[in-house]
Amino acid sequence: MFKRLVNECKIELTLRPQGAMLIKSGLAQISGVDMAWVRVFRNGQDEVYLPGSSLKGTIRSHAERIARTLNEDAACDPFAGHRDKDKPHSCGTALELYQKREKKTELTMREAYRLSCPICKLFGNTQMMGRLATEDAYVKEGTNPPSPQQRDGVGIDRFTGGAARGAKFELEVITEGEFHTTFHLTNFELWQLGLLGFVLHDLKDGLVRFGSGKSRGLGKVQATIDSITLHYIGNKEKIITNSHVNLLGVGALFKQANEQYGMQINDRLQFKHNNQNVSEHDLSGLRQTVKVTFDDFPWQQLAEKWLAFVNNFTDALADFR
Ligand SMILES: [Zn+2]
Repeated sequence: MFKRLVNECKIELTLRPQGAMLIKSGLAQISGVDMAWVRVFRNGQDEVYLPGSSLKGTIRSHAERIARTLNEDAACDPFAGHRDKDKPHSCGTALELYQKREKKTELTMREAYRLSCPICKLFGNTQMMGRLATEDAYVKEGTNPPSPQQRDGVGIDRFTGGAARGAKFELEVITEGEFHTTFHLTNFELWQLGLLGFVLHDLKDGLVRFGSGKSRGLGKVQATIDSITLHYIGNKEKIITNSHVNLLGVGALFKQANEQYGMQINDRLQFKHNNQNVSEHDLSGLRQTVKVTFDDFPWQQLAEKWLAFVNNFTDALADFR
């Protein structure tokens, strides 16, 4: 996308499984369990962890549901391909068809971003990187790594459905623990932060399930959002005043954002800060940083940005779906 970083929002989270949860490893198991947790060697031992790619997939599906409730065109189906006549094409496939029709040898990031659906703009597709990156979630410092437990019998039969009927089937779950992860939103538009806000509120309320067996009740997680840090690169505008924080999207920071990427122009809002919770580190004079608590963040104003954006969204790739 952009060659340089203009803004970044870093969100630190703690995830706590509530009840049984399984993030499957695709590897063959030595232990004899049929489905085992992903593991990593850390702190001198094997520990379970939640891979960032798995977190991102879960967050994306949740965001898709939110988007579709508001506007059916606002989220493509990332799994729909060329040959699936019953399903409309994903943005990735539709962009390939667009490229062919336009006889372009290459599709620029600008075009891919401008034409993609809101969900792809945030999470990416086969033609471009998304704005959101999710780190692997490891056992939180100072807490005990949870010990996986083996489950079998009736619960497992219910969990796997017909396929495992009659066969002895064992899987490994964890039921406790605390995992720390960081989400990075870079070169973002404010509506994207608004959409992410809806997801974060649902994570806090335990409404987002992770891993395998979600429809069977596994994977309930309760999250706390530990901190939110905004970084701005550049000194054209002051981000923090004595009483306010100026929250700026790319459209307010990058001249060609609208014309080249179709981004919102003059993308900004202002919120009051409580001095105790806001800190500024301006070492070089080029990087401005503000750390804000979840409760002080202007979620309501950001939600309005997202709702206005999604309700007015029209699918630029409609001819190729
Ligand atoms: Zn899409």
